[in-house]
Amino acid sequence: MVVEHNPFAKRYRKGMKRIALVYPNRYVGGITNLGLQYIYARINESDAICERFYADVFDGLRSIESATPLSEFDVALFSLQYETDYFKAVEILKRSGFKGLKIAGGPCVMENPQPLMDYFHAFFIGEVEGYVEELIHAKNAEELSGIPGVFTGREEKVKRVYAKLDRHIEKEIIGEGAYGRCFLLEIGRGCVRRCRFCIVRQIYFPPRWRKKEMLPEIGEEKVAIIAPSPSDHPQFKEILQHYVEQGKEVSPSSVRADTLDEELADLLKKAGVKTLTIAPETASDKLQEVINKGIGDEEVMRAAELASTRFEKVKLYYMVGLPGESFEDVKAILEQALRVKKLVGKVEISVNPLVPKPHTPLQWMGFGGEEELREGISHLKKKLEYLRREARRAGIGADVSGFKEFAIQTILSRGDREVAEMLEGASYRKFEKYLKPINPDSPLPWDFIDHGYRKSTLLKEYDKIKKIL
Ligand code: SF4
Repeated sequence: MVVEHNPFAKRYRKGMKRIALVYPNRYVGGITNLGLQYIYARINESDAICERFYADVFDGLRSIESATPLSEFDVALFSLQYETDYFKAVEILKRSGFKGLKIAGGPCVMENPQPLMDYFHAFFIGEVEGYVEELIHAKNAEELSGIPGVFTGREEKVKRVYAKLDRHIEKEIIGEGAYGRCFLLEIGRGCVRRCRFCIVRQIYFPPRWRKKEMLPEIGEEKVAIIAPSPSDHPQFKEILQHYVEQGKEVSPSSVRADTLDEELADLLKKAGVKTLTIAPETASDKLQEVINKGIGDEEVMRAAELASTRFEKVKLYYMVGLPGESFEDVKAILEQALRVKKLVGKVEISVNPLVPKPHTPLQWMGFGGEEELREGISHLKKKLEYLRREARRAGIGADVSGFKEFAIQTILSRGDREVAEMLEGASYRKFEKYLKPINPDSPLPWDFIDHGYRKSTLLKEYDKIKKIL
């Protein structure tokens, strides 16, 4: 049973328009999504009613608030955070027999909604804040077409919309989410950095910060600070200090190793942080240059030193299958983690294969990081297996993903309409062409989305990578 405090709950009365907010994944993730909370609050403040659906509550078929079947709602808004959620989303649509208006949004839709074209009437490309009412009051796809950010398939192009960050909301639903029971504090959107693999900076551009004065006083004991790169906020320390002084436990979603100094490390300790999470992504100097992350060995070791006297554990995030990656580069991950372990004692690594995402300079690269797909996949499997095995031997906690899930993610993120067959049971092997390197002159399935960058700029970055390799 889900126990939560919901300040926006509303009772259905006859004649109200019913809006379903569907998160086709687990409640712990869905309740941690502030965008969904915002939509929910906005609708329940209007003359319509919104109820939520999660994959692990009634299998996504009945609302969490009143156990009302999805089929009784007029509009379903789906939030797609991960490509692998498409499978559950399609299952929910089919099993529920939902006949109303189906609209999807979220980061996956913003990157490339082509595989989902047959399942939804419209896609919302961008940040929905200013358009919730227009979306839910449209009667059909024709009426949706023309709303900024909406793509129904009738339009040739769609320009992503983004919101101005206003004062932070004062009230939230508090449930047991990924960060525990806490208040979610979004201090910024977009990112000032230029990591070449990162879609977040592309689809949430431009970077925007909420000034300290725009943040609320918080009743809950625990606060989770949310932003793509929170420690880049110019007032990050002041914000932390403010809530720490009020006796709150504060945890930022991540901290860039190169922003960590003594003062920040002390503050994080006071805030109750036990594990320092940093994401070097790669331990190789050459690959750091390729991805442009800017977290080299020096930054990692300096952060580890600061962590050694303050935190219980360091968690390191890496990717494998980067372009030009050798086995030596993968061994360097383990070596780096071992050096951190010597300082801190307890270390965990999390390793995922790289998904060369649309809208990034890596979009033309192949999955597995090599020109020849078979070789790339075979090397990738060996690299993952090596890290899994050797980390365990070295007493390092290791969360190493399998290659298949990420191959599927890559196909769904780069695929055209035809890959929808995978959602109907076809094997991913049938669509392996979407894992291969792409000729930069070829049109791309996501070319119709205008995220505000020039393709020539991405190409210049792509050429820089090629030169490094
Ligand atoms: S990886 Fe992090 S720091 Fe780099 S651009 Fe993305 S959000 Fe910013």
